[in-house]
Amino acid sequence: MSDYLFYQSATRLPTIDRAEGIYAWDEHGKRYIDACSGAIVAQLGHGHPAVREAMLAQLDKVAFAYRTQFENQPALDLAERLVNLTGQRFDRVFFSSGGSESVESALKIARQYWFNRGEPQRQVFISRKPAYHGSTMGALAMTSYTPLTAPFEPMFQHYPKIASPTQYRVPAGLTAEAHALACADELEAAILAVGAEKVAAFIAEPVGGASTGAEVPHAAYFPRIEEICRRHGILLILDEVMTGIGRTGRWFGYEHWNVKADIVCLAKGLGAGYYPVSAVLTRAELTEPILASGGFQHGYTYAGNPLACATALAVLQAIEDENLVQRVADNGAYLLQRLQALGKRYEFIGDVRGLGYLQAIEYVADRDSKEPFPLARNVSDAMTRLARERGLIIYPRRSLMGEKGDHTLISPPLVTSRAQCDEIVELLGQTFDAFQAQQVRP
Ligand code: PLP
Repeated sequence: MSDYLFYQSATRLPTIDRAEGIYAWDEHGKRYIDACSGAIVAQLGHGHPAVREAMLAQLDKVAFAYRTQFENQPALDLAERLVNLTGQRFDRVFFSSGGSESVESALKIARQYWFNRGEPQRQVFISRKPAYHGSTMGALAMTSYTPLTAPFEPMFQHYPKIASPTQYRVPAGLTAEAHALACADELEAAILAVGAEKVAAFIAEPVGGASTGAEVPHAAYFPRIEEICRRHGILLILDEVMTGIGRTGRWFGYEHWNVKADIVCLAKGLGAGYYPVSAVLTRAELTEPILASGGFQHGYTYAGNPLACATALAVLQAIEDENLVQRVADNGAYLLQRLQALGKRYEFIGDVRGLGYLQAIEYVADRDSKEPFPLARNVSDAMTRLARERGLIIYPRRSLMGEKGDHTLISPPLVTSRAQCDEIVELLGQTFDAFQAQQVRP
């Protein structure tokens, strides 16, 4: 075994050999169920024949063309397809390769728009805590997850952060709705504190992703957020890197509340793990002043290349052909109900929540007080290890600013059937039994 790769942690993992559908096998032939689509990416599971065909066909034509030298048909078609999927709500598309790049691009579109509109003082971006928007400096400045930001704090701008809404840890004395509205009103307070004329945009995930553990906002939340943004003339950016492309049982997470954003970021499920590709959707009102000034002063070498776009087109086609968005809406409700029933059996499970195939299980030391486990127990990692031993891949995170609290994301590929949901629930049950057995051991 070579030691040359620099991993994020010192933990070594099994070596993957092959994968098919929602299953993967390691070099020793052990089978795993991918219950989190890798990093909530593999919408179609692995080895989808139509995606493979489309990629091979594109490779035979042209894999790479640089966007300042050529346009290419897959990029033109993908832009049109995405616009149509939004019902023409958006009419301009900017491509990049990963989620962090799409967030950087969204922030820079917002900033250059104001700059070219003659409002250069608009340089403040408001985001939420906890939140994850990516690992590059601009995206990190929008992120609130202490272990990821702490080493780099001196390297990025510090902007106002408002509380992410929760339906699990609603403060005593408040209804879920009142709490959601109070969280939304924090946006207005932050805008007024800075001065609305200095604020460029507010960015949020429609359903909290890894950092909150699939926190679904109360229905009152986004309408109030949208109203505040409009009233103060501030752009609304939705980071749909995780929630987009069918993940929540709609093509886009914003559809659940009909949120009218100015900019939407897509990545992960767009390439579905077959090729890195991401997109920013926006409107001509924003891009016209930018183009009139001489162009968008931003771009990436691999942006909009033919192979990436042909892959994404095939992914979207397969999702449509297999009616996966509707299937996720139906099967997601089934999976949630099965996970909630499972959760009731274990005292250490405080909450099971989510939308579509973006779900989470939050672990607590005490169900009544919702007190998290001590940090040193590292429960979400322990659960991941126990699951892996049983052939189940799940996605761990800390729930409270990355500082404490533990949850697991359960986000299988969109192609996962009900019978396969049952398999996941069965293996999770075995995982929780093993955790419980460790708890009672002296
Ligand atoms: N935004 C959200 C909501 C994410 O969940 C992620 C990744 O998990 C990102 C941005 C960053 O994406 P990437 O890791 O592809 O750069």
